[in-house]
Amino acid sequence: MFSFDVEKETFALKPMNCPGHCLMFDQRSRSWRELPLRLADFGVLHRNELSGALTGLTRVRRFQQDDAHIFCAVDQIRQEILAALNFLKHVYSVFGFSFQLVLSTRPEKFLGEMGMWNEAEKQLAESLNEFGCQWKENPGDGAFYGPKIDITILDALRRPHQCATIQLDFQLPIRFNLGYVSESGEKKRPVIIHRAILGSVERMIAILTESCGGKWPFWLSPRQCIVIPVGTPFHDYAFKVKDQLYSAGFMCDVDVDPGDTMNKKIRNAQLAQYNFILVVGEKEHSGGTVNVRTRDNVVHGEFSVEAVIQKFQSLKDKQLFDSEVDF
Ligand SMILES: [Zn+2]
Repeated sequence: MFSFDVEKETFALKPMNCPGHCLMFDQRSRSWRELPLRLADFGVLHRNELSGALTGLTRVRRFQQDDAHIFCAVDQIRQEILAALNFLKHVYSVFGFSFQLVLSTRPEKFLGEMGMWNEAEKQLAESLNEFGCQWKENPGDGAFYGPKIDITILDALRRPHQCATIQLDFQLPIRFNLGYVSESGEKKRPVIIHRAILGSVERMIAILTESCGGKWPFWLSPRQCIVIPVGTPFHDYAFKVKDQLYSAGFMCDVDVDPGDTMNKKIRNAQLAQYNFILVVGEKEHSGGTVNVRTRDNVVHGEFSVEAVIQKFQSLKDKQLFDSEVDF
C-alpha cells in the first residue's frame, strides 16, 4: 500500500474495494429483503508494486477494476453465480474471446465450517452445470476463505489470460461482523461474492491491443479516421468533413501539419493505425466527397461524405473483429 503520515495519522491510498463495500453494507441494519445487495465500483486503486515488477499496462501502480461485491444469503449463491457467468459470457462474446472455467474447491488449510463449504461448492457446481459450458474441477485450489471459479480467456492467438474473478468469501463478513435480519427475525451472516469481468481495465486494454496487433477493429478504434488535405487551400474543407464525421459519432482527426508532404501524412496516419484515411483536394471539395484509403493502403476511391457516414455506421453496428472488412 501507499501510505503516508498526515498530522500524526496514517493515511493510505485504497488498494482494493472490498473493505469499503463492507462498510457501506454495514452502514445501517439490513433485512433479508435487501438481499442480494450488489455494489459495483470502478474506483481508482493504488498498489505499491516494486518497480522491477511493473510491466507495460499489465502490472501498474494505479488502475481500475470493474469490481463488484454481491452480499447474499447462502441459498442465493447459485442464482447469483449463474447471473455473473451469463454476464461474463455476454461481455467476452463482444470481444470475441472464448474462455475456460475451473472450479477450485476447499484447500487443506481453510477457515469456516465444513458444512458451509460443502453447500457453497454444491451450489457453484450447480450454477456451472446450468450455465452449460464445459468446466473442470481443481480440488484443493480454492482460497482459504472460500471456493472460487477461475476464468481463463483465450485471445486471438489462443494465449491464455486470467482476467475475470468469481470468488466466494465467508471470512470477510465475519471480519467486518456483517449481518442481516432473516425472515424469521434472527441475525444471519451474508456471504460475499467478489466478481470482476474485465478484471483490471488497463490489463484488458493491453490484452486487446496485443490480440488485435495494434490494429483496433473500426467499432472499437480510438482512431477511426483522419482527413488529409492535399494542400493549404483545402484546410477549411478538411475541417468541415471532420466536423461532419465527428457529429455523426466517429473519432476523426485532421492533419494540417505544414511540415509534412501529403504522402508523408498518409504514411504517418497508416503507422498510427487510423482505420481510414480520407484525402481531400479540388475535386473532392467541389463534389462534397472524400477519397478513401485504409491503413493497409487499399485505395477505395471517391465517396460522398454521406456515403462514408453510412458505411461507417454499418461497420460500427456489425462490431466485426476482423481488421480488414469491405468498405
Ligand atoms: Zn473484492
